[in-house]
Amino acid sequence: MEQKIIGNIFFQLNKSGEKEIIGNISKNPIKSGKTALVLGAGGFIGSHMVTRLKSEGFWVRGVDLKYPEFSKTDADDFIIANLTDPTAVNSVMTLIDKNIEVGFNELYQFAADMGGAGFIFTGENDADVMYNSAMINLNVANQARQRNIKKLFYSSSACMYPEYNQLDPENPNCEEKSAYPANPDSEYGWEKLFSERIFKAFEKNYKLNIRIARFHNIFGVNGTWDGGREKAPAAMCRKAILAKDGGTLEVWGDGLQTRSFLYIDDCIEAVRRLMDSNFKEPVNIGSEEMISINEFAQMAIDLSKKNIKIHNIYGDEFLEKYGYPTPLGVKGRNSHNQLFRDNIGWEPNQKLLIGMEKTFDWIRTQIEKN
Ligand code: NAD
Repeated sequence: MEQKIIGNIFFQLNKSGEKEIIGNISKNPIKSGKTALVLGAGGFIGSHMVTRLKSEGFWVRGVDLKYPEFSKTDADDFIIANLTDPTAVNSVMTLIDKNIEVGFNELYQFAADMGGAGFIFTGENDADVMYNSAMINLNVANQARQRNIKKLFYSSSACMYPEYNQLDPENPNCEEKSAYPANPDSEYGWEKLFSERIFKAFEKNYKLNIRIARFHNIFGVNGTWDGGREKAPAAMCRKAILAKDGGTLEVWGDGLQTRSFLYIDDCIEAVRRLMDSNFKEPVNIGSEEMISINEFAQMAIDLSKKNIKIHNIYGDEFLEKYGYPTPLGVKGRNSHNQLFRDNIGWEPNQKLLIGMEKTFDWIRTQIEKN
């Protein structure tokens, strides 16, 4: 659908050619000199980033297909737009201040068609994931170079690391330099790798000023916790809260696969520090506190203070119940933070249990509300 800005009104033309207003470009004067555009601002990490940038005095425009689900946005402007459409991307990058077009100081690109293992690893969403996210990133890179965007952050993922280095649950290798020869285990990971390369190519040929982080399992309050797109931390908390005392909690796979999880506050801090640094190569943002999925499930069970048994489901039992093979991802994954430490001089420091306590309490409140 065609999307346009006229004056301060953002609208789209529906099938009958009528204008439908979908957003209002704020006339809030840009009081501070600092401006930021957050794409994917209706999502988990994007909405936290908007709040952080506002607290630092930025004038912020958020863009997404939807408003944040669990909180009001703190953005000065919020535009509902589909970023797979180049016209929409062109429009949302237009920033007029005192009748003069100015470029955003910072752009944060979080928009992606994504979810947890139940969304990414079943294979059922591969075409949409690749098409939608690649289109967004192509549009963003191409428009950013024409719009005088001063600095651009791209959120890649640890899913771009090759599967062959993540077969041993006790010793996965996710060092940045291990990315090639490439062999991610999902189309989601291949798209992330492709898009890293898009942004690097635009940096090389058009001097875009780029920062790229490879996120490792970010979790916390205000994240999706049910519906199929939720990630493991939210799913574990929800299952433990809903399970009966004396009941069971289902864990996909044998539970020996390992992961690390980073609480959202540390993720936002790390991204802001990366943006303020001069470091331009893709770098991990994650936790080095590796844990097996069964241990992780037990953490959620302990928080529930109930007597719950873990039921590992895989193979034929899983196939029979869900109709597709167990969507597991790699056997082991852990963040490797040396490059970040060496170049940014800081590292995430919140213990997993502390983040899980906050997330567990928040999901319990959400369940009680519904
Ligand atoms: P999220 O799904 O909560 O947020 C992504 C947002 O993008 C959603 O609000 C969605 O509506 C929006 N979006 C999707 N398609 C769009 C379109 N066509 N136009 C406009 N908006 C669109 O995900 P998140 O957890 O906040 O992740 C943010 C970014 O970080 C994503 O790029 C994701 O791939 C990456 N990442 C996240 C994690 C994690 O653990 N959360 C790990 C690795 C990488």
